[in-house]
Amino acid sequence: MSTTPAPESWGRYPASTPHDVITLAWRTQIADAMRSSTRVLAYGLGRSYGDVCLNNDGTLIVTSHLDRFISFDPATGVLRCEAGVSLAAIIDLVVPHGWFLPVTPGTKYVTIGGAIANDVHGKNHHLRGTFGSHVRAFELVRSDGSVRECTPTQHADWFAATIGGLGLTGIISWAEIQLIRIGAPTLDVESIKARSLDEMIAHMVESDASWEYTVSWIDCTQGGDSVGKGSFIRGNFEDEYRIKNSESNQRIKNTESNMLVQVPVVPPNWLLNRTSIKAFNTLYYHKQFNRSKRTRTSIDPFFYPLDVVGGWNKLYGKRGFLQWQCVIPYDGDASVMHHILTEIKRAGMASFLAVLKMFGDKPSPGLLSFPRPGLTLALDFGNDGVPLMRMLDTLDAIVADVGGRIYPAKDAHLSAEHFHTMYPEASRLAAFLDPHCTSTFWQRVHTKVQP
Ligand SMILES: Cc1cc2nc3c(=O)[nH]c(=O)nc-3n(C[C@H](O)[C@H](O)[C@H](O)COP(=O)(O)OP(=O)(O)OC[C@H]3O[C@@H](n4cnc5c(N)ncnc54)[C@H](O)[C@@H]3O)c2cc1C
Repeated sequence: MSTTPAPESWGRYPASTPHDVITLAWRTQIADAMRSSTRVLAYGLGRSYGDVCLNNDGTLIVTSHLDRFISFDPATGVLRCEAGVSLAAIIDLVVPHGWFLPVTPGTKYVTIGGAIANDVHGKNHHLRGTFGSHVRAFELVRSDGSVRECTPTQHADWFAATIGGLGLTGIISWAEIQLIRIGAPTLDVESIKARSLDEMIAHMVESDASWEYTVSWIDCTQGGDSVGKGSFIRGNFEDEYRIKNSESNQRIKNTESNMLVQVPVVPPNWLLNRTSIKAFNTLYYHKQFNRSKRTRTSIDPFFYPLDVVGGWNKLYGKRGFLQWQCVIPYDGDASVMHHILTEIKRAGMASFLAVLKMFGDKPSPGLLSFPRPGLTLALDFGNDGVPLMRMLDTLDAIVADVGGRIYPAKDAHLSAEHFHTMYPEASRLAAFLDPHCTSTFWQRVHTKVQP
């Protein structure tokens, strides 16, 4: 075990100072580290945007050095590894054997423990559900020294509480997942321009049966009939690997030191303002001349376009930024999503990254998992203080009113009241909470969910 400087969350907001930071070297140290304080929290790679991975005044237990593979069967695609192994390391190991992650978020610098604790989703949620749906087993260590091997049938209640359990039920020491077969490390991708929200949604609905990966980028500076204007992107892994002579088979290594660009310093807050964001969105929309474009691409640019700019989160300046992601039910009527996007424009807020997706109806295995059927929207907002917080209050209320929810992995703002409304299952989590585990997020939202 060793101590290191205080880790941050990806949004760099809120500022948080843990009392202590313990970096684990071995799985056998977990229980002792948990007993070192009555307020501990596992910390993976800090890719959560808000405060689920922060523990102000408590102890952060850094797991990313628990990065050893335990077993991998190239015949079945079953992989077991320590909880600090990153998705990037898994990709490096398994893709050459014709396997890929069953579900991946938009960055590969995420640990498998973090992926389980937030039950992350990806561009194929409509077909594969969440990451937790592909977890075969994991080991959960508690501060009382007890160790449980959890599977969908063994300690099934602990399995459900820990998937999406925000690191509050104990610390996962290793996990076993089922990978998916791929024919090639390349994808057939189609990008289609959409002029409105209805057009965008129509593309999603039409594509979901035959395209494994679907996602939409939208320009949230648009209003009126153009609300929801943007690009719809769909892709499938190719069946076989062919390298055309004209293609430079550039491979981006899965380590942060090989990122193509690194943001060197924290720039001033005004760099990302409404004008620069509008200009970026216009350029992005028009970079594709034709209405639709078909390309062949490799894993990194398709799944992890942001990973090539190391430390891009610093572009938002010293005050950091907040991501806001909701899911709302969808029954063919997009008026609530239209209302949300119009409200953002009315508030004068702009987001560089506005991503829209349709979640499918595959149930999430976690008690507190975020995804449910409907439309999900994720946006980044530079932290400009009170005006932003007011707008987020309004958006949270709209989402709560229609039976939607906000994603804790992205959140730094949700009130206890709204959390309680959106996650009534949280009261059932109480029986599984480790008495030593807590987080800044939990301190903020838990008061109303005590049994
Ligand atoms: C660019 C970018 C794109 C993203 N895209 C998506 C996306 O498409 N879909 C999506 O769902 N998410 C997405 N995310 C969010 C990210 O996938 C999650 O926040 C993920 O959980 C981060 O994993 P981590 O290893 O960094 O964990 P951390 O952020 O360090 O921790 C997350 C939570 O996991 C807990 N935890 C970590 N390790 C363990 C362990 N061993 N045992 C128990 N609990 C543990 C922590 O206590 C904390 O509650 C994105 C993030 C970024 C930065």
